[in-house]
Amino acid sequence: MEDIRHITAEQLTEFLLQNGEKKFRTAQIEEWLWKRGALTFGEMTNLSVALRQLLEQHFTFQRTAIERRVQSSDGTAKYLFTLHDGCQVEGVLIPSGQRVTACISSQVGCALKCAFCATGTLGFTRNLHFSEIFDQYMLMNREAEQLYGHAISNIVYMGMGEPLLNYENVMESVRLITAPAGPGLSPSRITLSTVGIAEGIRRLADDGFKPEVALSLHCADELKRSLRMPVTRSNNFAMLQDALRYLHEKTGKRITIEYLMLKGWNDSVEDARKLFRFCMPFPVKINLIEYNATDSGYEKSPEENVQRFVAFLESKNMVVNIRHSRGQDIDAACGQLAKKGETRL
Ligand code: SAH
Repeated sequence: MEDIRHITAEQLTEFLLQNGEKKFRTAQIEEWLWKRGALTFGEMTNLSVALRQLLEQHFTFQRTAIERRVQSSDGTAKYLFTLHDGCQVEGVLIPSGQRVTACISSQVGCALKCAFCATGTLGFTRNLHFSEIFDQYMLMNREAEQLYGHAISNIVYMGMGEPLLNYENVMESVRLITAPAGPGLSPSRITLSTVGIAEGIRRLADDGFKPEVALSLHCADELKRSLRMPVTRSNNFAMLQDALRYLHEKTGKRITIEYLMLKGWNDSVEDARKLFRFCMPFPVKINLIEYNATDSGYEKSPEENVQRFVAFLESKNMVVNIRHSRGQDIDAACGQLAKKGETRL
């Protein structure tokens, strides 16, 4: 049986009409699915019992469930989700003041094998369906209200996987989460983070993508980057820069550059100069990310290297933020998502 969330509103209307139901039921059902996050027909209490049974006989829900929650001493909570076929992904809630940011996954595992990232060691299993991306948001939103007394205010596509290699499902999940008839989150509160898939970035530009876009650059020396981020070989700097310039032209966006500070690899003043040059063709904001320990053997940059790096960029009038990590004690921080942690709910 098909998941009711995988058919279009038009198909649902057609089904309802064929079964002697009224057209307006579509909007009611859609509201249950995408605004209230229903995962059973039984809870759709404004539908007749007969209609609920009819739906039950023809459709199913491929349910996503929270398997485990681990909470950090800083309030960050990491979730392990089990999908309908037993695959698992992780999501993270990060509270700060009135804000709650949800970090969600776009794929089961990841194919890209960036040397410093724990997710890459899992390999790639499959893409998430848009309903599975939506489920992470919806389930964590309920949790956020309980844990922090606030709904999710921001979403970052920075969990497991590469969002631009699951383009359609990611786009559809953004559409659903921002839909006025659904949760209605503002696109400006959503950030899609990519390792740098040039073709995908161009597609975002052509599709008039409204959310923020972040590039996980981490190194502005092409050869050095390609050794630790092999995706650089098929998406070289010229292609990336062209795509980012095009995105800026089409959408007026300032691109966020994420830059992980790794001791002795990318944290010299010369590296900062290369970063400055890489960013010349388009306006950027730079987030320097503290490296989170994984089993990969890299070390984070010492504070003085970070300060020198920042001083150089600021001397070039670049906007730089230093991002301290959250949730490290529970392996919930960037690059640590790999299904570790044993605490059960
Ligand atoms: N594939 C997308 C989405 C993942 S975002 C992307 O690459 O942007 C996860 C972010 O955490 C990326 O910027 C990634 O490079 C970064 N990261 C990976 N390993 C890390 C680590 N050990 N410490 C800190 N950040 C890390």
